[in-house]
Amino acid sequence: MPTSNLKVVPIKPAEPKAVEQRLYEARKKIYPRTVHGWFAGWRWIMVGITQVIFYGLPWLSWNGRQAVLFDLEARKFHLFGLIFWPQDFIYLTALLVVSALSLFLFTAIAGRLFCGYACPQTVYTEIFLWIERRIEGDRTARIRLDQQPMSLHKFGLKTAKHAAWLAVAGWTGFTFVGYFTPIRGLAAQVAAFSLGPWQTFWIFFYSFATYGQAGFMREQVCKYMCPYARFQSSMFDKDTLIITYDAERGEPRGARSKKANPTAMGLGDCIDCNVCVHVCPTGIDIRKGLQYECIACAACVDSCNDVMQKMGYDKGLIRYTTQHAITNGLGRRDIWRRVLRVRTLVYSAILLGVTLAVGLSIAHRTPLKVDVIRDRGMPREVDEGAIENVYRLQIMNTDERPHRYHVEVNGPPGVSISSDTTFEVSGATTKAIPVRVRVPADAGAPGSNPVWFLVRDTENADLRVMEKGVFLIPK
Ligand code: SF4
Ligand code: SF4
Repeated sequence: MPTSNLKVVPIKPAEPKAVEQRLYEARKKIYPRTVHGWFAGWRWIMVGITQVIFYGLPWLSWNGRQAVLFDLEARKFHLFGLIFWPQDFIYLTALLVVSALSLFLFTAIAGRLFCGYACPQTVYTEIFLWIERRIEGDRTARIRLDQQPMSLHKFGLKTAKHAAWLAVAGWTGFTFVGYFTPIRGLAAQVAAFSLGPWQTFWIFFYSFATYGQAGFMREQVCKYMCPYARFQSSMFDKDTLIITYDAERGEPRGARSKKANPTAMGLGDCIDCNVCVHVCPTGIDIRKGLQYECIACAACVDSCNDVMQKMGYDKGLIRYTTQHAITNGLGRRDIWRRVLRVRTLVYSAILLGVTLAVGLSIAHRTPLKVDVIRDRGMPREVDEGAIENVYRLQIMNTDERPHRYHVEVNGPPGVSISSDTTFEVSGATTKAIPVRVRVPADAGAPGSNPVWFLVRDTENADLRVMEKGVFLIPK
């Protein structure tokens, strides 16, 4: 048998090392660079539109009162000429369904368009960043300032920035509360330092939420707090518009002079300038592919287009496109054609159906609601053995003007009302009307008998509501 002259060397087992893994990655501050371009222009237009609506709407009057007011204390929601009561909860549900369906539809077509252009987090971050740039300068100046030790100059800049942020945040908090309590009265109370404890709390709460989220947390809100970023992928398909880096065209990336011939150098169109990373408000590199942190703000599209233009290359190395378009080389017309696909058609049909149903229901809403509550007392015997039950009719006039109503009753033979049958209810109020109902002796069976109350407007016979009640006859 052959013998081996190899020596067996004992291997000392490696000492196990403790591995520490952080559960939370420390935030690296992002200094987004200023960006100009077509999409940046649209972003500012959206900031303008959303903020004019948000700050302006509570000051708008309608029929002599605030046009949009969610009056929680009076449990009434005023929406221009409409008044919604807690009984109209169904409309709030419908509004949520319509919002959810719209989100599904727009996300399926255009990805995170809402995040990039209309989400309050993006809009306020954009405003706060604008203030920061005006006071501290653009990206490089801000990085340099943060690295400097504290000085009078730095202290002055930081104080000015935070004061401006707090002013915007305070106005935002005040406006927000102005949707829930009449804003003109609120302004007078602020001026007189006579705010109530709850108003003070909510104004401070929303102000600090704005200050904290737009000034400090910024992209962290999108990354860690917003649930939409997590489930958006389920609404995407291969024809959804996404911000994409065209790797086939851009790679291999590399620096070169403007005059250099990239083909001769074996390079793609990406000059590896990192400008697309420096403008990104969430600090990602879109060249690594679609990431959930991307809010589709298109800042990288504008900045890369700018670079391409300076280099004399075609624009669109980073662009809005779809996965299908990238893999199959589809043109713009094909991308648009694929907007109409099963998923988007189904979402559109449901959205249209629900919106129409809600619209028709609101348009045909009767501005009168009636609740019948029977008095808890026992039925009593009155003249000549007649039986009387007492009710409280809760009449809700949801119209802006007062109405005069007449009430009638139907039920066992000979049933009648022995109290006032006509009454007035002021606009947008609820009134409890006591109503005494009688049936003659021996009319109706002992026990529960159904009765119907018909409440109708004295001037408009079409404005009527019928409600059922129970008439008790002792055994
Ligand atoms: S901006 Fe354009 S060229 Fe510059 S690194 Fe980004 S993708 Fe490449
Ligand atoms: S990758 Fe581009 S589109 Fe996405 S968040 Fe960053 S800058 Fe905006």
